[in-house]
Amino acid sequence: MIRRFWQSAMIGLARSPSVRHFMQTSRATSGVRSRYIAIGDAAGAVARAQTLWHDAGIRVSLFYLGEYVDDPALVEENVEAKLDAARMLGAAGLDVHVSVDLTQVGHMLDPGLARRHLDALAAAVGEAASGRPGLHVLMLDMEDRSVVDATIALHDELARRGRPVALTLQANLERTADDLERQVRRGSRVRLVKGAFPEPRSGTFPTRAAIKANFRRLIDQMLASEALEQGFYPIIATHDERLIEHAREHAEANGWPVGAYEFEMLLGVRETVARQLVSEGERVRLYMPFGHDWWPYTARRIGETPANAWLLARSLVG
Ligand SMILES: Cc1cc2nc3c(=O)[nH]c(=O)nc-3n(C[C@H](O)[C@H](O)[C@H](O)COP(=O)(O)OP(=O)(O)OC[C@H]3O[C@@H](n4cnc5c(N)ncnc54)[C@H](O)[C@@H]3O)c2cc1C
Repeated sequence: MIRRFWQSAMIGLARSPSVRHFMQTSRATSGVRSRYIAIGDAAGAVARAQTLWHDAGIRVSLFYLGEYVDDPALVEENVEAKLDAARMLGAAGLDVHVSVDLTQVGHMLDPGLARRHLDALAAAVGEAASGRPGLHVLMLDMEDRSVVDATIALHDELARRGRPVALTLQANLERTADDLERQVRRGSRVRLVKGAFPEPRSGTFPTRAAIKANFRRLIDQMLASEALEQGFYPIIATHDERLIEHAREHAEANGWPVGAYEFEMLLGVRETVARQLVSEGERVRLYMPFGHDWWPYTARRIGETPANAWLLARSLVG
């Protein structure tokens, strides 16, 4: 109850233009910013990615910040920054792994525009990877329920045309078991998350316990031996150690070799767990956002646990 209230309140603050302006222009907020965001431009994020890879064996997915964008100039800026990120990851010899939200590349202005941008971005990922081994994809993040159908449809269309794409699905939605089943049969690459958007009750799991139980069932679907035979690539994106353990046990029991699946976590959250997993031989990636429009993303992260209230309070009074 408290968690749901906290999450909804933070989503409200994430969407408030005046709070966004204050947070993104005030010097006092740099502490809360640096917790979850790589500071600097694409070059800075790639430099940090190189350090993580060389020092800790951790891969990254780069995400240029910006969401629910209805300004054509900002859409162009988002696309350019993501193209830069893809080229620079390729030039650095790292996985060319770039995450994108449908609403940041023009979906709110014209779905056809978003489609063309996603196609160009996926093509750029393929070119920058130039046949090197690794997981090189344009990863479609998943936003609120109003864009789930559109996101899946675009993913499927690009995949059919041979573009290197991957898809995020949310365990809080009842529909996900069916969506996942279709993706397993296609041999897709799917990132499973709990879901960061409070949704209307119909069609969603009502409690955290129910979402977690569904996450377990979806892990079982992703790491079934039939999924391995289909060439499906599971990405388990959580900081929940019980779910991570469940996935590891299931992977081992069903004969999944290390490197045929991976774990993904967020920059700034439980990085000790990420490092521990790598030291035990698992493939791990960090989702690394960068860019100046950092407040909406950060507010959602703060909203993930009421324990983060202190982080926000400290940054505002200190
Ligand atoms: C790589 C990645 C990509 C994602 N992409 C999407 C997406 O496209 N769409 C979407 O809706 N959601 C996305 N999410 C967010 C996701 O839906 C969850 O909201 C988020 O991961 C928290 O859930 P959890 O599974 O880590 O479990 P939780 O039970 O929330 O967290 C487990 C533990 O991790 C720690 N923790 C988790 N989050 C935080 C935090 N923000 N700050 C401090 N500690 C924390 C806490 O100690 C907590 O007890 C993504 C998450 C990851 C890891």
